[in-house]
Amino acid sequence: MSEAASAPAAPPATRILDITVIGTPAGQGAISFKGHGKAVHSNHDVLMPWRTTITKAATRALGTHQRVRVKKMPNCRACGKPNRTHGEIAGPVAVQIVVTVKRSPTAAKRGDLWPANRTTSDIDHHARAVLDALCNASVFPDDGQVVALEVQKVFPITPHPDALPKPGATIRVWKLGVPTA
Ligand SMILES: [Zn+2]
Repeated sequence: MSEAASAPAAPPATRILDITVIGTPAGQGAISFKGHGKAVHSNHDVLMPWRTTITKAATRALGTHQRVRVKKMPNCRACGKPNRTHGEIAGPVAVQIVVTVKRSPTAAKRGDLWPANRTTSDIDHHARAVLDALCNASVFPDDGQVVALEVQKVFPITPHPDALPKPGATIRVWKLGVPTA
């Protein structure tokens, strides 16, 4: 366990998820409007594979499944559980995310150690994408449950314990409140 792995909130906290995901990180936030006023994420083609990768890794690690939605139905079609409680954690949640992004040739040429530039998505957009993916993975039913969030954006070469050798993310989730053990 790295030194960065303590919960970004006051104890008691029980860590329930610790995954490393390899893929191309994409931020979520910029919206485009298509015909008939339909709003879509402007980077949909890169955002969706990234979110899917995270969702799959989280469901595999936790043994959860994605909620199967049926229009106007209040329950998951796969398990019958109500949509509003369809998640591993019912109460407050703390999340820690370290996103490793590709170091562009320009950044490498400048000798940049951190992705402090406009060529990668803003850090809050990275958080948005990861939290939505965790919600889809039924880690928690509602991302309003997240009360503590720590996000970092690094390059593979950044001197950080969770910097990955290639683009991806380290994601940790804690359940806050009474320990379950
Ligand atoms: Zn279900």
